[in-house]
Amino acid sequence: MYVIQNGTLVSAERTWRADLAMEGGKITAIAPKIPISPEDQVMDASDCLVFPGFIDPHTHLDMDNGVTVTADDFSSGTLAAVCGGTTTVIDFATQDRGSSLAQALTLWHKKAEGRSSCNYAFHMAITDWNENTRRELGDMAAAGVTSLKVYLAYDALRIDDGQLLDILGECRSLGLQIGCHCENGNVVSLLQKRELARGKRGPAAHPISRPPEVEAEASLANCPVTVVHLSSAAGLEEVRRARARGQTVWVETCPQYLLLDDSRYQLPGFEGAKYVMSPPLRSSADREALCQAVRNGEVDTIATDHCSYSFAGQKELGREDFTKIPNGAPGLEHRPALFFHQFAASGLLSTERMCALLSENPARQYGMYPRKGVLAVGSDADVTVWDPKAVWTISAASQHHNVDYTPYEGMTVTGKAKAVFINGVPAAQDGEPVRTGMGRYVFRNALNY
Ligand SMILES: [Zn+2]
Repeated sequence: MYVIQNGTLVSAERTWRADLAMEGGKITAIAPKIPISPEDQVMDASDCLVFPGFIDPHTHLDMDNGVTVTADDFSSGTLAAVCGGTTTVIDFATQDRGSSLAQALTLWHKKAEGRSSCNYAFHMAITDWNENTRRELGDMAAAGVTSLKVYLAYDALRIDDGQLLDILGECRSLGLQIGCHCENGNVVSLLQKRELARGKRGPAAHPISRPPEVEAEASLANCPVTVVHLSSAAGLEEVRRARARGQTVWVETCPQYLLLDDSRYQLPGFEGAKYVMSPPLRSSADREALCQAVRNGEVDTIATDHCSYSFAGQKELGREDFTKIPNGAPGLEHRPALFFHQFAASGLLSTERMCALLSENPARQYGMYPRKGVLAVGSDADVTVWDPKAVWTISAASQHHNVDYTPYEGMTVTGKAKAVFINGVPAAQDGEPVRTGMGRYVFRNALNY
């Protein structure tokens, strides 16, 4: 038995002082004082918060974008996740056009199995909608893959509006849910060509080719959907309108849209390439609107969209043409600290709300609750012991991501993962790995619409 003593436990509703015991991968007791015997291991968590392990519902690990492969695979990405306090990721398996969903799922299992340091589940991105794909949706649900993603952007990935409506209908009947990358691909292509024709080839043209209107324009059919990586005030307005119509819309945003803005694209030389991601960083007014939405309770989950490419050799592929810069940025390791610092340490949000946004909501929304997302007897022993007073500086030199930069370089933050338990076993201590490769596949339930 492993016992965390004297901690302040956190749920989405309350905080309370208690000991917590783990055994056989589960939480076995929560009580003011748990009696221990000599063979038990103990950790003193006085002055620490004890969270249900943080869940990142949006990552891209070991992903081939057709030109290059993300810098982080499951081995480095999930190790970094654990060091930062994240105990489960949901990664995007992506169907290749011309192949089946089953082939994509098999491939992603191969990428993760035995390499993953945190627990992992998969969304399935549909890029080829046909009768075979339709038949496979039931197989996905039976395999624990209960959320799908469709892209309305990127030529190699996107589906059209008619296909989207068709997919939404199927999802509803199977209890699957759908996430939408809401950018209009036709408009983006046109604007990219226009910028290149004007001789604008550098990273500064990236946000101009993907204005907020492109995000807001993406249609939301009348079916429960998750809007992933919401980045703009215009997109937020669209969400408000859909909710006012009575539609269920879950909103995800990411630390980069809450902390950074589009001034980064004006950095000298090719530096702006580090921030080339889709959607791009927006104006400071957009950033403030999203922060306010987090405080208002209009945002449900905080993910990273971690999709890392090194500056040297990968981002540089687009030195002469911004449309060839691989889109994406790292963040998996730093999300809990960035969020705690910005919202909880500053007093803008309670620790309970942080628990909802980073643990309980993603667990509920993606069919893992109450196995994950809550500290309760019988739940999985994924636990993050958090030191709310630790002050430290984020840097590429000390991160565990396999990438040569971080968008948050030099940022000093308050709050750090002190100890992280995966399936009841110590996996990280003071931001460094203790034991790796223990992650297991998480089978997810379908939703009751
Ligand atoms: Zn993504």
